[in-house]
Amino acid sequence: MGNARRAMRLAGAYLGTVCLLILGIFAGNRAITVISEGLPLEDRRCIVIDPGHGGEDGGAVSCTGRAESGYNLEISLRLRDLLHFLGYETKMTRTTDISVYTTGDTLAQKKLSDLKERLGMIQALDEPLVLSIHQNQFPDSKYHGAQVFYASTDGSGDLARALQDAFTGSLNPGSRRTSKKSTGVYLMEHLDCTGVLIECGFLSNPEEEARLRSPEYQKKLCCVIAATVAEYLS
Ligand SMILES: [Zn+2]
Repeated sequence: MGNARRAMRLAGAYLGTVCLLILGIFAGNRAITVISEGLPLEDRRCIVIDPGHGGEDGGAVSCTGRAESGYNLEISLRLRDLLHFLGYETKMTRTTDISVYTTGDTLAQKKLSDLKERLGMIQALDEPLVLSIHQNQFPDSKYHGAQVFYASTDGSGDLARALQDAFTGSLNPGSRRTSKKSTGVYLMEHLDCTGVLIECGFLSNPEEEARLRSPEYQKKLCCVIAATVAEYLS
């Protein structure tokens, strides 16, 4: 019974993805055409999905009192499933609500240890592509929209611009946000491969928080990210 329900759920998810792919073909998106026609993927780089924070480090707190780490994990797991479905090799820096620290007594020390562990996982791979998933927060609740920050490594700026354009073109029409070079973010500053940090939206904006919490919006967000990454890698 449990298996049947799981199979039904998976079938539903795949059907939704296929519908989006077909929509993409009609919209003339080359990357989606490449995937849907089953053409070989030229770039076999592992895609690292890094759900920001976790465990004791919840990150930002939403206007509904939920920790950022939970939104990051939900979106990252969906993104992993979709990228798998599209044939990519992926690695997650965490798959549950944990901090991956190995040393430290204070929260700050544990946080640094956690980031070093994540960096170690990334550096053990051959030229991976890193997608670090986060949510934004600001005292003034009027701010909304996704924003992409990039590492100073080869390709990161191009990927960030492509993702930002895709968000503005689909999820946040009219948004004037632009991609920016990341400053003061440990993981982005220590990467030696292509990497971006995606702030999916503002948890301090009630309408956006409700969207970021909904499975439907999370799926759309992941479709936009996956299609843009596929285009970038092709
Ligand atoms: Zn964060």
